[in-house]
Amino acid sequence: MLQDETQYDVPVKSSGSEQKSVVSTPSNLPPLQDRFGRTFDYVRIAITEKCNLRCTYCMPEEGVALKTKDEILTDDEILRLIRVLASIGIKKVRFTGGEPLVRKEIVKLVEGAAQTPGIKGIHLTTNGILYDRYAKDLREAGLTGVNISLDTMDPERFQTITRRAGVETVQRAIDMAIEVGMPRVKINVVLMRGFNEDELYKFTELTREKPVTVRFIEFMPFDAHQIWESGVHFASAESLVHQIEEFYPGIQNAPGTRTEHHTFQAPGYKGKIAVIPAFTRSLCGNCSRIRVTADGSIRNCLYSDLEYNLRDAMRAGASDDDMIALFRKAFAEKAKDGFESKKQSAAKKVKVSDIGRVSMTQIGG
Ligand code: SAM
Ligand code: SF4
Repeated sequence: MLQDETQYDVPVKSSGSEQKSVVSTPSNLPPLQDRFGRTFDYVRIAITEKCNLRCTYCMPEEGVALKTKDEILTDDEILRLIRVLASIGIKKVRFTGGEPLVRKEIVKLVEGAAQTPGIKGIHLTTNGILYDRYAKDLREAGLTGVNISLDTMDPERFQTITRRAGVETVQRAIDMAIEVGMPRVKINVVLMRGFNEDELYKFTELTREKPVTVRFIEFMPFDAHQIWESGVHFASAESLVHQIEEFYPGIQNAPGTRTEHHTFQAPGYKGKIAVIPAFTRSLCGNCSRIRVTADGSIRNCLYSDLEYNLRDAMRAGASDDDMIALFRKAFAEKAKDGFESKKQSAAKKVKVSDIGRVSMTQIGG
């Protein structure tokens, strides 16, 4: 069975300085790099825009206008793009969405990715609602990591944030991921002042007995509902780190991934705690991610609205080399960081709404 061999762990606290890596690829083609020396070896693929929850910070209550089935990449197109990317050094794949488990072919996609030479880690980001149906099959198919999103352990608050019931189902999903022997289990918590910040300690305490990483993610203003302008506020990565250090005096730094601002482990605890500066963007220098939307557009940054239409190119007969050329173009044009990406999109007068994307479900969180 595929074990996660992606070398994403970095020693202790990251400084945000740019990565330096020497990368070889299975094809001996040059790896995917940008003009700032960053190497991209991790692709996040949204496999659907549909979702069975309606998180207030992500989706409007009525949902978003969905693309037709024909507009979404097929299984074969997804597996082809993974194979092509693997040839230029991509080692890690994450399936996301929308909610990736509403796409019934998920096990087949994981299996196909696991059989692709060069792919060393396959991960999933899910809200956990449907996870029990697939937990065992996904592990057997080669899934090596699962991030389960859970912002609160309180049933009423869960209903408020997701507009659906299901907190126990998600909690069970976390235990099930551990039980099936998933090598990496992470819990994604979007921390919001005035909403769930008081649960920070409850979440960090999960790491006492569970071998999971609890990741506190800064809230980003991507929602179609302007929750940003309501009573709910942003809690900065620095303020979260400060609170964690207060809860656990003398807590040690632990190895984390390139985009985890700080990773900690309390003495004697089985799991880890991490903070993700998604909004403050202090780790853009470490970026290694390629994003592909469910309808097949390449995005070189979460904060960029520039898109490169891979799906139409593939459907018009693009060769593998043509596909690689499109990825290289997209990453040659990548801005230095998320702030510059926003400016770049503004300068080119591209707006998310013009390309029909008003929610993280359409960008691929
Ligand atoms: N449906 C899956 C899930 O919720 O895990 C995968 C897609 S979701 C868009 C991926 C991640 O993005 C989730 O952990 C979610 O909490 C996070 N997310 C969505 N909107 C966000 C926002 N405005 N700010 C911060 N994180 C957000
Ligand atoms: Fe759905 Fe995930 Fe967005 Fe929540 S965060 S609405 S679960 S896609």
